Amino acid sequence: MTLRTLDALGPLAGRAVVVRCDFNVPLKDGAITDDGRIRASLPTLTALLEQGARVTVVSHLGRPAGTPQEMYSLGPVAARLGELLGTSVAFDSAPAAETPTELADGAIRLLENLRFDPRETSKDAGERQAYADELAAFGEVFVSDGFGVVHRKQASVYELATTLPSAAGTLIAAELEVLERLTTRPEKPYAVVLGGSKVSDKLGVIDALLPRVDAVLVGGGMLFTFLAAQGHAVGGSLLEDDQLDTVRGYLQRAEELGVEIVLPTDVVVADRFAADAAHEVTAADAIEGTPFGASGLGLDIGPETGRRFAEIIARSKTVFWNGPMGVFEFDAFAEGTRAVADALTRVDGLSVVGGGDSAAAVRALGFADDRFGHISTGGGASLEFLEGKELPGLEVLGWQA
Ligand code: ADP
Ligand code: MG
Repeated sequence: MTLRTLDALGPLAGRAVVVRCDFNVPLKDGAITDDGRIRASLPTLTALLEQGARVTVVSHLGRPAGTPQEMYSLGPVAARLGELLGTSVAFDSAPAAETPTELADGAIRLLENLRFDPRETSKDAGERQAYADELAAFGEVFVSDGFGVVHRKQASVYELATTLPSAAGTLIAAELEVLERLTTRPEKPYAVVLGGSKVSDKLGVIDALLPRVDAVLVGGGMLFTFLAAQGHAVGGSLLEDDQLDTVRGYLQRAEELGVEIVLPTDVVVADRFAADAAHEVTAADAIEGTPFGASGLGLDIGPETGRRFAEIIARSKTVFWNGPMGVFEFDAFAEGTRAVADALTRVDGLSVVGGGDSAAAVRALGFADDRFGHISTGGGASLEFLEGKELPGLEVLGWQA
């Protein structure tokens, strides 16, 4: 691994440093519900501030589609970051001010959401470069530490790192150290647990992982596409119609490779998407057989499935989990996620949780971070890393897989 790390930038006292963090935290009614990603940024930021660097932090939050929207403001993050650092964090509303005001040595500011400007995520490299040039005015060097976005070729992730002398922060370095243990000869049996709602994003992962793992456990929103591929009706549950053939292909390939794709045998079906929805446990092949009929929504794996998943997880030596098993934000549909989280804490080997919502889920369910081998701040990024894909935000820092 040839990743450039902080020491590659030389002494940073008195120097202006731009730091890309991933502060894409879950918010509810303007309040941060899980500050894990902010905490994860502290080692790098503290190291820089203690050296007397002048630190400008940039991040995105949510998908504001290129225009300023109050609900996606990083204001609450600036406040929380200040509390955690024990220092005041200036909050600057314009990422691209004309001439940035100078900071004192050891001072820190956070700029407003990068994605309020459409150039951050533009497909046009020229537009991204123009935005990166504006961001580069805030520093002499660049530290990339937003692990959750390293799989994206975006202005503050890729172009900015080519515009200023750049290096990875300690979070990215730490994430890579653990994830590498999953790709270079993981101890067997190796199980991967997938769930969540970004179904089409994650289906491809299964294909790439099949040759490397012993079992793939499928829960969350994507399980319904598997059930449908087997010919079962899934009511109003999440379903990617155009992926049915792909999924059938995975099932067949898994069989050829001797890898188990473990699908739920029971699910929790609700009459609507709400915390107080009426709900019932039913067999996975009888989702439309509840009183809610064809409008029933599968919102969690059932208890039998939870037990079966837990058994497989607890006897594995290596487990990677991405994506909640159900809509854990509602108590009634959190049991599947709880069963999987609990099983991961019992793994005698390496257990890794990846993904913003998955990390938030284990914390919301009361599991302390140190009960897992590692909680990755990146969902998509960690999955793409495990698939062996090239990650532009890492390559630009010297990393080669
Ligand atoms: P991560 O951030 O960990 O990568 P995702 O973003 O893919 O995970 O998905 C998280 C979301 O998936 C959660 O908000 C959860 O409510 C939702 N989810 C899980 N199971 C279902 C389901 N059966 N139907 C709808 N949404 C689901
Ligand atoms: Mg998510």
